[in-house]
Amino acid sequence: MNTVLNNLKKKAIEVRIVKSDEATPITKIGLDKMGRRYNLIAPEKMRMISIESAKARLLNEVKTLVCTSCQNYIQMVPIKELPTNVICPECSSGKIGVLSYPEHEVRKIFDKGKHVRSAREKEVEEYALKTAKLVEAHGLLAVIVLSGKNLRLSEVEEILAKEHQINDKLFAQIITAEKKALTRSFW
Ligand SMILES: [Zn+2]
Repeated sequence: MNTVLNNLKKKAIEVRIVKSDEATPITKIGLDKMGRRYNLIAPEKMRMISIESAKARLLNEVKTLVCTSCQNYIQMVPIKELPTNVICPECSSGKIGVLSYPEHEVRKIFDKGKHVRSAREKEVEEYALKTAKLVEAHGLLAVIVLSGKNLRLSEVEEILAKEHQINDKLFAQIITAEKKALTRSFW
């Protein structure tokens, strides 16, 4: 800096005002440095915040679990209270369906004989059977992914094929799939 000032004094260099849409070389260095700082820190921080909030949201989610083997066990449970190995307390089966309907509604559907179920009730049973297969294979991991907002079963399966641990990467995958589902609902 001193050299610049000395040169200015000696009139070796002169100050000119440059009107330009582009940054001058020196400004560019400053802007690049700032940009690098924002690009590195801000998005990484944002990513961590969104992962942490997704984690809190999904683990606080309450789902109705139904044992599709004995059909005796039907209970609304907050996900955070579930063990890693999700099994039926009555018959020890791992075929636990995950539904978003209240417990009494699910019980009503499963108490009815197959032949008297309405089309919608049959769909609920079908969904319980499909999700039970995922829970049997992946345990708590499947219950968490199934709690993702508006995710199709195929998307849940895709995540479960890739992720085998409950960690930040899993929650990041769920967030990405939820974003995709959100754009889908606009079309
Ligand atoms: Zn059971």
